[in-house]
Amino acid sequence: MKMVIGNWKMNGNIDLLHSIVPTLLQDGLGAAVGLCLPYPYLSAAHSLLKAARSQIKLGAQNLSEHPFGGYTGEISAAMLKEFGCKLVLVGHPERRSMYGETRDVTASKLHAALGAGLYPVYCVGETLAQREGGLARQAMLDELALLAGVPSDRYAVAYEPSWAIGGGVTATGADINEMHLFIKDVLGAGTRVLYGGSVKGHNAAQVLGLDSVDGVLVGNAALSASEFLSICRTANRCAHGEPIELLKKPRAGLIDADAGAHPLPGMPLIDGAFWRGF
Ligand code: PEP
Repeated sequence: MKMVIGNWKMNGNIDLLHSIVPTLLQDGLGAAVGLCLPYPYLSAAHSLLKAARSQIKLGAQNLSEHPFGGYTGEISAAMLKEFGCKLVLVGHPERRSMYGETRDVTASKLHAALGAGLYPVYCVGETLAQREGGLARQAMLDELALLAGVPSDRYAVAYEPSWAIGGGVTATGADINEMHLFIKDVLGAGTRVLYGGSVKGHNAAQVLGLDSVDGVLVGNAALSASEFLSICRTANRCAHGEPIELLKKPRAGLIDADAGAHPLPGMPLIDGAFWRGF
């Protein structure tokens, strides 16, 4: 199974929700797919998914590190669960860089998510300065240490180099492989490692075709049903070991890849085993 998790960030509106979710449902997307929506849309999304008995996993983009109390504007893990969330992003690079989320804060949020039975997608990745200074691995090590001892079926790691997010620059296959293998070395071979950073329909095969990639975290492309579906179909094909012509091309950089992902419409993406308990 290769996971595809959409992160709408602070985009979209209720109309988009009512157009995208039914389209995804029609395509039979299942347990390998997640949608991390802005808080106000969680309840409506939960109703849509529940009515369709969908296995698509609903998620939030953030949570409070506190269980309850005088924390105006915050949302607790228990509240997310009440509205049907199964997963939650923790430590997204935009939270770290724009909202000053420190390692201590992300540690507490991880703890809160895991304690409530949510499935955290823990985002780690180096800045451009760290990469250029040869410090990428050290930066990651400090963050990965937070997960030491946590069973690997309780979370996923998303490798999200901050220089590749939102800006249209995708890491090369070699960059991705190197860091994913490093993460699996540190946390164990069974660790689910997703890649996030400008994944689109046209370059998804180059990313998802890598053995070290267990899925993708998708930002802007998750706001288009056709883009997102194309990525999900590619994930399904890669998970089933289908040959993908694009993967035979040299992987100097992913962004120039051919625009055709050759999707197979209608193939259900259902693999419940991994989500046992969530
Ligand atoms: C993200 O926000 O996690 C992300 C990967 O964004 P984008 O796909 O737009 O780079």
